Amino acid sequence: MTEKFPEILVTGGAGYIGSHTCVALIQAGFMPVIVDNLSNSHPLAISRIEAITGTRPAFYKCDIADDAGLRTVLECHPCVATIHFAGLKAVGRSVSEPLETYRDNVCGSLSLLQTLRSRGINRLIFSSSATVYGGAEHMPIPETASIQPTNPYGHSKAMIEQILQDLVTAAPDMAIGVLRYFNPVGAHISGEIGEDPQGIPDNLFPYVSQVAVGRREKLLVFGDDYDTKDGTGVRDYIHVMDLADGHVAALQRCLDTDGLFAVNLGTGQGSSVLEIIQAFETVSGKPVAYEVVGRRPGDVATSFADPSKASDMLNFKAQRDLTQMCRDAWNWQQRNPTGYANR
Ligand code: NAD
Ligand code: UDP
Repeated sequence: MTEKFPEILVTGGAGYIGSHTCVALIQAGFMPVIVDNLSNSHPLAISRIEAITGTRPAFYKCDIADDAGLRTVLECHPCVATIHFAGLKAVGRSVSEPLETYRDNVCGSLSLLQTLRSRGINRLIFSSSATVYGGAEHMPIPETASIQPTNPYGHSKAMIEQILQDLVTAAPDMAIGVLRYFNPVGAHISGEIGEDPQGIPDNLFPYVSQVAVGRREKLLVFGDDYDTKDGTGVRDYIHVMDLADGHVAALQRCLDTDGLFAVNLGTGQGSSVLEIIQAFETVSGKPVAYEVVGRRPGDVATSFADPSKASDMLNFKAQRDLTQMCRDAWNWQQRNPTGYANR
């Protein structure tokens, strides 16, 4: 008789963080059931999860707002919990097309929650973001800092957090973990899965690795006149596999304890843009050309987590350092110079 592992519905599981979390889930003895509309991901990610783990997760191309489709999936797969990654994450696009972001993130989450409630699935992990803190004044940022997003994407995350809080108040049998990610970077050590942004990357790390691999000419550094160690922006970069491990720890807590908790997932360390360039050059042996330009509207000088609550509550601490983040991002980039589409 084959052993039956607890099934976990993973929305957005073909995406960047979702695919890495599926690997961690399988390795921790869970069986992911992926639902993704592939609006920002490639189905090859599923085969790569299989290549790494030896297990092929069930995959359904389905929108989280498709109640009938999700019900069919859940009839075949009696999931004990959900990890909800699906959503739109591009900040700039959320400013130019706010309704699109609110519909996918807020309406999509509402619809998903109703489907899950109707199926009696009451354990949930939600992907939130440090962006809900907006321009926090004090560093490091604890979970008690005020929620003051500065763009529609951040507002959509804060709205969903509020909906989840109200839901737990109304249904105390639920268990919900809200995870506020800082800056997830890097890739699985195998180089099989990684970040595959469509078009010009918005974020620093994929941009730097595309310059190093020769796909882009130079990085534009958005401002060197901030009040930071070298004038460039400082962020808390966390290896995506550490983030994935954080989800497994949060899931385990949700399976044991009712109520809602919100925790930061970060390292507590801040690195500047110039430090990232330097670290990437060292690891890759390639020069990363850059030009300093003006500040990007909406950027804050510094953002890094107080990671102590995740440590106390989940026994979670990020293990991988900046060198490993760069090494794994570079390995993925070299093996997949144009992302999943090149094989
Ligand atoms: P991603 O775009 O790679 O993954 C999201 C996945 O969700 C994609 O595969 C996409 O196809 C899917 N999706 C989007 N809308 C959907 C819908 N309506 N129905 C079904 N599938 C849908 O992004 P990611 O970086 O893996 O981020 C995952 C989650 O973490 C997102 O909610 C994002 O807002 C949040 N987050 C990401 C970061 C980051 O820097 N990457 C930081 C903080 C929070
Ligand atoms: N950044 C940059 N050039 C880029 C992209 C980002 O100089 O092409 C800077 C940005 O101003 C910030 C840091 O890199 O200081 C991290 O930016 P990212 O968009 O990756 O994360 P976020 O700002 O959302 O935390």
